[in-house]
Amino acid sequence: MSLLDVRNLTVTYAGGAAAVRGVDLRLEAGQKLGLAGESGCGKSTLALALLRLLPSGARITGEVLLDGEDVLTMKWGRVRAVRWAGASVVFQGAMHSLNAVHRIGDQIAEPILLHKKATAAGAKRKTGELLEQVGLPAARADAYPHELSGGQRQRVMIAMALACDPQLIIADEPTTALDVMIQAQILRLIEQLVSDQDLGLIMISHDLAVLADTCDRLAVMYAGRVVEEGPAAQVYEDARHPYARALSAAFPRIGDPASRFAPQGLAGDPPDPAALPSGCTFHPRCPVALESCGEEDPALREAGAERRAACVLVGLPGAESRAAARDPQARGERPAEEPEALEEARPSTP
Ligand code: SF4
Repeated sequence: MSLLDVRNLTVTYAGGAAAVRGVDLRLEAGQKLGLAGESGCGKSTLALALLRLLPSGARITGEVLLDGEDVLTMKWGRVRAVRWAGASVVFQGAMHSLNAVHRIGDQIAEPILLHKKATAAGAKRKTGELLEQVGLPAARADAYPHELSGGQRQRVMIAMALACDPQLIIADEPTTALDVMIQAQILRLIEQLVSDQDLGLIMISHDLAVLADTCDRLAVMYAGRVVEEGPAAQVYEDARHPYARALSAAFPRIGDPASRFAPQGLAGDPPDPAALPSGCTFHPRCPVALESCGEEDPALREAGAERRAACVLVGLPGAESRAAARDPQARGERPAEEPEALEEARPSTP
């Protein structure tokens, strides 16, 4: 049995925005899964749905099996027990996630007192251990959040996530607000903790390079769906879906001056989840779209060993190489101009 098995998960917000559409994911204990995509692709909504943390107006369907138990059909008492003890979240922006008027030790101890029914002395001891585990002296428990640096606050967030010994950690952009040196330290810390404690990790980021460096597998999301999934290095180095390829090409490669000084971009924005384009939702931005792409929304299909991609070109003999020859991302060039379909899809200015 997998640690986490997400089956056909959909989330629709009040107002009709389809933020997550039919996502299937699987994660084993000790495995690290990266969820990538631009802002607005549904990554954070998916993460919040896993622990039923979405606002009450959101409609969620499908199954979220955590250690075989469906989180979506659990009674609320059980959901509260599963949060922290079964799975916990490291939120982005530690300064906003910590309570500014409480000492960090009290904030870490709170879930231990509530969920583990520990004594005050036991919670204090565990808090000190957790701080040391994330590389902070136990004495820092008396500090307020504003007395810590950004990196130290993110370490506190990780200590909080570990407070009740969860099996799964969901880290939502845990290093976005940090400089590159601290980012590297936090990423190594997360990796170390996951491997020492045999946890499962879902890490969310728009930064495919960070995810490829940290995770075993990558899932790339676009318009609420997973459009490519597979071993992290393969997806990063040799993406099969044009969107995943564009995302990967947006990051300069070390040792490649051409990409360093002119990283490629992708014209346009992800679509409004309340008004998705017909067919493949990527077709208005896709540099290699076919005429049929405006009508057909391809399902994920085999794209090699343990790989899947949702593109009509995948598996068509010769189609991918012909498309790659037309794709500026695949040729390592900047896109010269916006695809025609994107121009057409853009609303005319009043
Ligand atoms: Fe591009 Fe068509 Fe593939 Fe969608 S299905 S990614 S529009 S080629």
